Amino acid sequence: MFNNYNELAEYVSINDIKMIDFKVVTLTGKWNHLTIPASRLSQKIFEEGIGFDGSSYGYAVIEKSDMIFKPDIKTAFLDPYCEIPTISMIANIYQIGDEVVRFQGDPRYIAEKAENHLKNLKIADEFIIGPEFEFYVFDHISYEVEHNHQEVTIDSIEAPWNTNDKEYNQGYKTPLQKGYHAALPYDITNDLRAEMCLRLEEMGVPVKYHHHEVGAAGQLEIEVELGSMLKMADSTLIAKYVIKNTAITHGKTATFMPKPIYNEAGSGMHVHMLLKKDGKNIFYDENGYSGLSENAMYFIGGILKHAPSLLAFTNPSTNSYKRLVPGFEAPVSICFATSNRSSVIRVPGYAKNPEKKRFEFRSSDGTCNPYMAYSALLMAGIDGIVNKIDPVKEGFGPYDVNVFDLPAEEREKIKALPKSLEESLEALKNDYEYLLAGEVFTKSFIENWINYKYNKEVMKVIPVPTPQEYSL
Ligand code: GLU
Ligand code: MG
Ligand code: MG
Repeated sequence: MFNNYNELAEYVSINDIKMIDFKVVTLTGKWNHLTIPASRLSQKIFEEGIGFDGSSYGYAVIEKSDMIFKPDIKTAFLDPYCEIPTISMIANIYQIGDEVVRFQGDPRYIAEKAENHLKNLKIADEFIIGPEFEFYVFDHISYEVEHNHQEVTIDSIEAPWNTNDKEYNQGYKTPLQKGYHAALPYDITNDLRAEMCLRLEEMGVPVKYHHHEVGAAGQLEIEVELGSMLKMADSTLIAKYVIKNTAITHGKTATFMPKPIYNEAGSGMHVHMLLKKDGKNIFYDENGYSGLSENAMYFIGGILKHAPSLLAFTNPSTNSYKRLVPGFEAPVSICFATSNRSSVIRVPGYAKNPEKKRFEFRSSDGTCNPYMAYSALLMAGIDGIVNKIDPVKEGFGPYDVNVFDLPAEEREKIKALPKSLEESLEALKNDYEYLLAGEVFTKSFIENWINYKYNKEVMKVIPVPTPQEYSL
């Protein structure tokens, strides 16, 4: 929207913008924000930044918690969710020492470093990705957190198909697991999704399409057009912001929780990917397996080899692993195939256009920090290309059959994805060298991530009794 400070200042004054909002990503991939009156806008803010407490973002220890963020003017957008006219922009994080320098653990910086690493190796100029957003929309979610207890009770999750009394027509109820591409009048969230998509387009995120997903209890999907990695990571946070805020303006709650309802489809965030060099898609080769080039196959080899540790970034919640179970189109096996939704890497059978030849990684979910998840996928792929990791020789496939239909002894040959966050954090402890190449990730960042996830999440869930345990 703006290329420089003068363009921004002019827009602010002509359009009577009252507030300037800065959005800063936390370690776990959520936006925090801080706002200044537009009358305080100055070029100095972009040069000197604004101080904040990095320990509350998961980045720093209390005794060294002062950090600075500097807004990135190119990310500015008119914020449709603030009633007072507001321009929002995303910021980069800096650390303070003898000098103020980019913070090595800033997820946006990690993504920038990963993109530069790809270019420096002269493998390609751009990592092009396309995330798919699956989420549920509920009428109401309420929590009761008891004081001094770690206990959280979800009192009521009511899905719109149960409670929407707009028509109160119980005749048009979608049966469980039958919501895929459901049409009106079953698809009562059509207008809600359409509004989300309009807002996204206005905010510079082109939408490919939207539809109802398999989960009958209000599972929806929005897919956006492919774009380069850092921009798509920004767009991922914009998409989550738009989806949640549009839902709430209609009294609904959108959730990216990977498995909010037992026995219903989970929500993934599949990531389509390809590499471009000199404007050409280097993943395409008409003579290769499923139209994929040798580089694409090595990239797949890298991802599959590192899949267990990658999941610590792409599936970083305890709940993530409740989704990765057989029977719901979510992957459980470390293998690749064409048109096969049971494998972790799927080559879409319909993507014939050489410019768009690609594959999707199906494991990832919307609880990831997108900068880190996309960067880790790229680093695993680069490792595959550099070390010529052949996925066929490594025994990763192709498995162009439903892996759940294979005889047990065949299926046992295929390695399984980690079954818990603990397991993938353990895998990351033993397999992170590929992330350190080009100093993209640092060892201390990875250690902080493992400790944070283990202490603040895994250990908060493991000791809590679940209702299910009473009936075993
Ligand atoms: N909801 C499924 C998942 O958990 C994916 C369905 C699809 O292929 O779009 O990954
Ligand atoms: Mg889907
Ligand atoms: Mg998909």
